[in-house]
Amino acid sequence: MKGSLQHECGVFAVVGDPDAARITYLGLHALQHRGQDGAGIVSRQEADLKEARGLGLVHEVFDEAALRSLPGDAAIGHVRYGTAGGHTAANVQPFVARWRGGQLAICHNGTLTNAGQVRAELEGEGAIFTRSSDTEVLLHLVARSDQRTLVNRLVDALGRVEGAWCVLALSGDKVVAARDPWGFRPLVLGRRGEAWIVASETCAIDFVQGTVVREIEPGEMVILDEEGLTSIRPFPRKPRRACIFEHVYFARPDSVLFGRDVYASRVRMGQVLARQFPARADVVIAVPDSGVPAALGFAEESRIPYGVGLLRSHYVGRTFIEPTQRIRDFGVRLKLQPNRSVVSGKRVVVVDDSIVRGTTSQKIVRMLRAAGAVEVHLRVSSPPMTGPCHYGINTPDREDLLAHRYDLPRVRAFLDADSVAYLSIEQLREATGEDASRSCDACFTGNYPVEPVSPSADGQLTLF
Ligand code: AMP
Repeated sequence: MKGSLQHECGVFAVVGDPDAARITYLGLHALQHRGQDGAGIVSRQEADLKEARGLGLVHEVFDEAALRSLPGDAAIGHVRYGTAGGHTAANVQPFVARWRGGQLAICHNGTLTNAGQVRAELEGEGAIFTRSSDTEVLLHLVARSDQRTLVNRLVDALGRVEGAWCVLALSGDKVVAARDPWGFRPLVLGRRGEAWIVASETCAIDFVQGTVVREIEPGEMVILDEEGLTSIRPFPRKPRRACIFEHVYFARPDSVLFGRDVYASRVRMGQVLARQFPARADVVIAVPDSGVPAALGFAEESRIPYGVGLLRSHYVGRTFIEPTQRIRDFGVRLKLQPNRSVVSGKRVVVVDDSIVRGTTSQKIVRMLRAAGAVEVHLRVSSPPMTGPCHYGINTPDREDLLAHRYDLPRVRAFLDADSVAYLSIEQLREATGEDASRSCDACFTGNYPVEPVSPSADGQLTLF
């Protein structure tokens, strides 16, 4: 959605542990891959909320003093991955507000597809917004709801927004976790001793030495308070639409996503690629880190040795979030270096998880040739990405997507590879165990489950 924030983020909550903020801090470390722009934690001590937030990585935002300023036995936290336009500390979640019923903190992973419309309506009624993030809309809706209890107000508010949302809310006496009825984004429930944990991914529960209990179901709201756990299903049912791109790229490979082992799915993607699109080559290499499991699967299936042909610097951020093409190009070179000893004089298969704009792949092919590779065969463990995501993954406009601009022969020519092959959507479904009727693959197929709406300049609603 232009002008608003799209973000893929991570959320984490602890209820019932005197070290809630510290455990949340650790949990956010394990979710860092879901957002590197900023991080925030809000904790609760005797109905009083304390907050700390900032731009940057989790370890940059929180120091000992910040963690000491977050006492209490309940906390929620967020790592943020937004577009450049909204890159300010004010947009770092959780957001805290005071309303008639007391204090409330909210954080959110996903994109509200009608946030612009709801916001325009609220502004028409006199509401003042201080941030550009769509999450602020939720605070207003809760405060203005005519329902009596906080839970009912949250149900009311979430019933008015559409799209993808995994929401955590912290009040004076409750933590509430809710997942949209389509189930676009993951959300899981865990335990750590007597405490409850909620996290975007299972890897974060494992990391804090908790036990994964189960997924929070699409359309479910879980309330954690002194009475323990209450689960309600207050939203109208929708067909399940779990994001297939989480399997491809976003989730950490050691997570179990929508009931599936991410690492095993990615290895299978590589195996299918090797069977369907073999190449005569001397070595299989990965674009680290996200291409590694699929490259291992390709090597295993093709019986071509695996080598570390690209080295990744872990000291720079993701290239994708850099704001201009010029800087992005530089970012690829900063992040990845070819390993001559593996690729020189060799026919190389290079496996990456996805091609978005094509910037990364084009640079990689060029770098590998410059390092002496005699042939470069690119294998991509997802289908051609032809449409933007409206449900929380940060993708550019359609016009900037390489596979929207070019057909396969032109993609190959643009990238200057000896061959290029992508998984088909059917092959991706086979590798992930996701069914067409139960997942969202709009970025590959154009089948958008919910059309985003936004108010145009004349106040009319437009579909785009
Ligand atoms: P591009 O250079 O635009 O084609 O981007 C492709 C590279 O970005 C691949 O190496 C992917 O692993 C990675 N990637 C794919 N989707 C995203 C995303 N939403 N955010 C950040 N990186 C991504």
